[in-house]
Amino acid sequence: MTHFAVAIIGGGPGGYVSAIRLNQYGIDVAVFEKERLGGVCLNHGCIPTKSLVKVADLFAEIKESENFGIKVNSSQIDYSKVWERKNSIVERLVSGVEYLFQRRNIPNINELVIQIEKCEDHYKIISRNREGEESSYSADYLILATGSIPQQLPFMKFDEKQILSSKDLLKMQELPNHLVVVGGGVIGCEFASIYQQMGVEVEIVELLPKLVFNEDEEISRRLAMALKKSGIKLHLKTAVESIEKDENQMILKLSNGKEISTEKVLVSVGRAPNLDIDFKNLELKLENGFIRISDKMETNLSNVFAIGDITGKLMLAHSASKQGLIVADIMNNKINADKKEIINLNYENIPKCIFTNPEIGSVGLAEQQAQERFGDILIGKFPFSANGKSLGIGNKFGFAKVIAETKDHKIVGMHIIGPQATELIAQGGIFLGTDAKIEDLKKIVFAHPTLSEVVMEAIEDLEKLSIHKM
Ligand SMILES: Cc1cc2nc3c(=O)[nH]c(=O)nc-3n(C[C@H](O)[C@H](O)[C@H](O)COP(=O)(O)OP(=O)(O)OC[C@H]3O[C@@H](n4cnc5c(N)ncnc54)[C@H](O)[C@@H]3O)c2cc1C
Repeated sequence: MTHFAVAIIGGGPGGYVSAIRLNQYGIDVAVFEKERLGGVCLNHGCIPTKSLVKVADLFAEIKESENFGIKVNSSQIDYSKVWERKNSIVERLVSGVEYLFQRRNIPNINELVIQIEKCEDHYKIISRNREGEESSYSADYLILATGSIPQQLPFMKFDEKQILSSKDLLKMQELPNHLVVVGGGVIGCEFASIYQQMGVEVEIVELLPKLVFNEDEEISRRLAMALKKSGIKLHLKTAVESIEKDENQMILKLSNGKEISTEKVLVSVGRAPNLDIDFKNLELKLENGFIRISDKMETNLSNVFAIGDITGKLMLAHSASKQGLIVADIMNNKINADKKEIINLNYENIPKCIFTNPEIGSVGLAEQQAQERFGDILIGKFPFSANGKSLGIGNKFGFAKVIAETKDHKIVGMHIIGPQATELIAQGGIFLGTDAKIEDLKKIVFAHPTLSEVVMEAIEDLEKLSIHKM
């Protein structure tokens, strides 16, 4: 039976990143991945969607080219090319990770792990390959990184043709004429924005009174305004009550009394833990179906760690990777008797990005949360409409908001809606990650003319000292 010091189950951004860092530390590690390395992120999530975002934005810009003094006689989407471009970006990145594994001699075991068993001082792993043959391996340490899968609605099961998961929609080689997105969270809003910009008629049905529920109230309101203005129909505080379908179309009956006739439905109502492994003589503790972990990613089982979506902490790729890097440091200290400082991951300080048009970037507390936690808070805001670079690129929409504690002036939140918000929010990540105070930020010089000056003026506005705001 082949033995590894560390076996990682799942080769997504949690598992594969952790494996490379362990290898860099000289630790004998293997990854079990039933599909291809890169997980949901590279294969069916972050990367393919963002290649579509580029097309959607470019197409929208071309339509507005006359505002810039450019005449374009006609423009049209050739979706088969868009689809191929998306696939080639995915292929390049996935094969890049596979190449890194090959060069580093990290075993990438392309098998499904079906059973884990404790045997004296190690764990036994039973896996199955595509031909159905079973193999056994053993490892001293395990990292569970099996990720998540899309949740279904009981009366609207995925059929891969009309009722689709995000993965199914990405597989479609043609654009539908009409798409209903059930669920106005991050994934639902991103797809709605992408497809609407590519010319598809889109409607969002959301049970809650707001889109992107976890975002700052004001940001979520502004997103709803922008999506509505772009032509997306929103049905908030509304449930899908029933669905009738034939081969060509579906009729959705909504709780607001309306009926929608549509070609495709994307169901994006959340993601469920992906943990279909038999833990034979072990009792792995779960919390709402996700694996319960300590702040050091330890499960209740000795020498078993869990990272990424399967822990239900913050279901984002960079959160999974950071957890994986921290676990690698912990193992390095254990196995190599190193003395690396183990950082404490503060999930609140992890930036969150939403790739809608307009983009959203946020980190730390929302205004309402900050008020609840600290009572008195300072808020600085600045609009993109008063920023030179923003006008130059043709945008007057959106703002940056910075939130600080009144007592010691520590920055506790930053929220941006507008152009490049997903890039600009990295600055907020640095402010919160380094416990910066208003006084620290005053030392920074922001280049001109840049979108970053919106952040600078929002910081100045915390003390009502923004130059370009009344
Ligand atoms: C449409 C969409 C867009 C997204 N966009 C973004 C974004 O822009 N930014 C962002 O940060 N996040 C985004 N996400 C979320 C991001 O993809 C996930 O948070 C991230 O992939 C989680 O990484 P992970 O390593 O925990 O798990 P996963 O990426 O889910 O990887 C888990 C891997 O484990 C494998 N596996 C599972 N069970 C077994 C088993 N028993 N044996 C062997 N292998 C197994 C799976 O095949 C899979 O490859 C998006 C998600 C979706 C669906």
